[in-house]
Amino acid sequence: MNFHFYLQTYNRIDNHTSMKMHLMVRRVERLFGDLEKEMNSFKSETGLHCIQNCGFCCTRPNVMASSTEFLPLAWALYKENTASQYLDHLELSPISLCPIFMSLKTSEHAGFCGNYKNRGLVCRLFGYSAMVNKHGLPELSTCKLIKEQQTDQYNETVEKMKNGMKIPVYSNYYRRLSNIDPDQAIVMLPIKEAIRKAIERVLWYQHYRASS
Ligand code: SF4
Ligand code: SF4
Repeated sequence: MNFHFYLQTYNRIDNHTSMKMHLMVRRVERLFGDLEKEMNSFKSETGLHCIQNCGFCCTRPNVMASSTEFLPLAWALYKENTASQYLDHLELSPISLCPIFMSLKTSEHAGFCGNYKNRGLVCRLFGYSAMVNKHGLPELSTCKLIKEQQTDQYNETVEKMKNGMKIPVYSNYYRRLSNIDPDQAIVMLPIKEAIRKAIERVLWYQHYRASS
């Protein structure tokens, strides 16, 4: 089984264990809460919004994320007692896309995300954040669909940003994530691997906690 293999091969104690896992999870959740507030005010000020029933960005094959941003998801799975089972599912799945992506929308889940509440930082920032350009200025980074279908709002937003309107900045949120988990937040992995690693970290932590 994947988790036991992980226990055998993971032979060093990471610095992340110096902070209790549930505290780290709470700090990541607080960061998500701050982002949500900033994101909501950005959306209401600009009128930019996702296309209804769109989940296109979740199907990109090259989404990268850190295990840190998926610790809340891993923690929730652990609390539901489904974390080991989920790891086995990941092991068997040949699909390299995000394993939480649901190709059929159900009324239970918003959009196509099977665990919207515990989605990662990259999922939250995508479409409504800024990258800092080589001149140190924030540049709106959104998806092609929003740019094409909401051209007026997009152009107005670019103008407002020139006049100092605040927007969530990608690198600021990743910096804050690194402050929470310095070793692992900077390790960017394909999203499926990031989720797998987050679950392994939680299980590993709980395993050693129980046996120490
Ligand atoms: S960010 Fe763009 S691609 Fe992703 S769900 Fe929203 S509209 Fe669709
Ligand atoms: S976690 Fe959810 S929002 Fe993020 S890529 Fe996967 S399905 Fe999409």
